[in-house]
Amino acid sequence: SSKIASIEPAKIRKMYDMAQGLDNVISFVIGEPEFDTPEHIIDAAKKAMDRGHTHYTPNSGILPLREAVSAHFQNFDKVSYNPLDEIMITVGGMQGLYLSLLVLTNPGDEVIVSDPCYTNYYGMIEMNHAVPVTVPVYEEEGFNFTEQGLRAAITPKSKAILLNTPSNPTGAVADRATIEMIARIAAEHDLYVIFDEVYKYLIYDEEDFFNIARIPGMKERTIIVDSVSKSYAMTGWRVGFCLGPEPVISEMQKIQEFMLSCVNTPAQYAAIEALTGPQDALTYMNEQYKLRRKIMVDRINSIDTLSCLMPKGAFYVFMNIKETGLTSDEFAIGLLKDQHVVVSPGDCFGAMGEGYVRLSYATSVENINEGFDRIEKFVNKLK
Ligand code: PMP
Repeated sequence: SSKIASIEPAKIRKMYDMAQGLDNVISFVIGEPEFDTPEHIIDAAKKAMDRGHTHYTPNSGILPLREAVSAHFQNFDKVSYNPLDEIMITVGGMQGLYLSLLVLTNPGDEVIVSDPCYTNYYGMIEMNHAVPVTVPVYEEEGFNFTEQGLRAAITPKSKAILLNTPSNPTGAVADRATIEMIARIAAEHDLYVIFDEVYKYLIYDEEDFFNIARIPGMKERTIIVDSVSKSYAMTGWRVGFCLGPEPVISEMQKIQEFMLSCVNTPAQYAAIEALTGPQDALTYMNEQYKLRRKIMVDRINSIDTLSCLMPKGAFYVFMNIKETGLTSDEFAIGLLKDQHVVVSPGDCFGAMGEGYVRLSYATSVENINEGFDRIEKFVNKLK
């Protein structure tokens, strides 16, 4: 269709493609945990298959999983959702985002996102015949929305604000005051908020995660998108959840029948175990990310032409390369060719990402140190 033909391929893929065929590559582009899925979760899927759970499930997912999600949100996010009609199991957070946009937007409606933001937002919004409208977020403001920036993006066609906290690619975590400001503006302009919290477990330094649906009046206009992918090292299982008002969730259930019928059944049983079983693996992985974050940030800030903020969450550093005099593309392509280190150019995430590259620290300490020895060599050659 002309709509699909008009959509640009994700720019980030270019770096993966260019890295193919090179030897001894260090990659900082991976957007997923390098850890294996914890064994007790894998066992739960095996047991489910042995017990014959290999058939279709209800469109909204199996009830025990919806109940586990409900209990988890009550406990962690401090919000109440009825497992019978306010929770939908989706194919990762990605299908949750897609279904939210499909159910909420009419052709031409505008969806507000930060710039930079998760690359897939642009394509997903466009696929749904809606229009992404960007709000620049600045390093000086911790890459958070400001009231002035958000207000400037609102038009009569605005339908929803897509908020991702902790953020991919910047690692920003919206504090309570920022979330309250966003909620106020959403209520004032009768907008939905799609609240993408797939990195919510990956918050360091006691930063208090705050779910926007806790604010009185917001539950009615919020769709929460979450998944087990990042927290439990389960990216390949493809299990996520949407929580929202009954009229929105019931529309999602209706169209899931025409789209996928349901999420992979054994994977749904594995997700119950992830949410309700032992949480030690999660604690261990978080400690590892925290350690790696510090090592990476220290290495960056010890190089005089590079700098970064200490990211508050997720597993990404958004590194400022402006003083090298190179564009994001020149930096990423030069580094790949010269030193076989792969990073994501910041402009993959929006025009405001120019002057930055994104690095993932979901990789071993050895890789971080070896990668930064090479980055140092590359940068020194530019002098
Ligand atoms: N939201 C953000 C911000 C992401 O970075 C990702 C994955 N990279 C997702 C949603 C979707 O993840 P999944 O479908 O694996 O849950």
